[in-house]
Amino acid sequence: MIDAQSVSKSYGSVQALNNLQFQIDAGSCFGLVGPNGAGKSTFIKILVGILQKFDGDIQVFNKSVKQRRLAVKNFIGYVPQDICLEEFLTAKGNLIYFGKLYGLSGEHLRKRIHTVLDQIGLTDKANQKVTEFSGGMKRSLNIGCAILHQPSLVVLDEPTVGIDPQSRHAIFNLIQQLKEKGSTVIYSSHYMEEVEQICNSVGFIDKGKLVEHGSMQHVLNKHRNASIFISADGISKEELSVYGETIEQKNGFTVNCDDPLLTMGKMVEQFWQNGINPERLELSHTRLEDIFFYLTGTQLRDNG
Ligand code: ADP
Repeated sequence: MIDAQSVSKSYGSVQALNNLQFQIDAGSCFGLVGPNGAGKSTFIKILVGILQKFDGDIQVFNKSVKQRRLAVKNFIGYVPQDICLEEFLTAKGNLIYFGKLYGLSGEHLRKRIHTVLDQIGLTDKANQKVTEFSGGMKRSLNIGCAILHQPSLVVLDEPTVGIDPQSRHAIFNLIQQLKEKGSTVIYSSHYMEEVEQICNSVGFIDKGKLVEHGSMQHVLNKHRNASIFISADGISKEELSVYGETIEQKNGFTVNCDDPLLTMGKMVEQFWQNGINPERLELSHTRLEDIFFYLTGTQLRDNG
């Protein structure tokens, strides 16, 4: 289990983390979610032993990152936000280099490189230089370097920023494999739909504070409610408010209600009588992104 115990960190006058306290079960895939600047990377850098000056402590499988930093590092595979590869080496060359840094050698290293190249889908690119790789291939190789030593905890900091959908899919498959093998995964992202898709527990962080955490199901159930989205000419917020709390969106309205199917039926009847022909009329359940916004008032992304 990973146990964050009152973790705080300031950079001068900027308080990046403010008393974070939560646990992550061994074997789970935990999504650390928050907008840019929330403090995700700072937390991760403390967890993996890069930042050593902070208040509080984190126990990683019963070892304190403060007191047993090197021991903790051994069972963590860290994939940093910025790609960290030797550009002029081949994929295989990078894996040898990083494998040796993790203390692997000989036949064991050779076998691990073979397995990892297969896992990250780069077997046929093994002897190609990284300078010739796409962003997605570099990301995959970066993950490969971090899992060579078969860490029990894999920490990925925003691993899908700036990559194509195909590479994103490959990374999801890889995470799925890690989950199936029983690794604990920490996945930091500001892409909420990704976290909803691959993680089974989640922590929301905003302005250095943990605002909600728990199993994905718990968080979704606790805050989830149904809503109806309407986009139609000739309909006003006041008219819709009789059906439930109505929020004006960029291109329509969202109406929150307890019994959305029944409400939708009544709306359709009203639209029919008044000759209103909606462009969009959709039933939706609250997404993780909506919950984050509801709890913090903060959008996760500046743009779509
Ligand atoms: P995230 O990973 O969620 O984008 P960060 O942990 O990188 O957030 O940053 C949290 C806050 O700490 C931000 O306000 C950021 O500007 C600040 N910060 C991060 N690193 C440094 C640093 N080395 N020096 C000063 N401020 C920093």
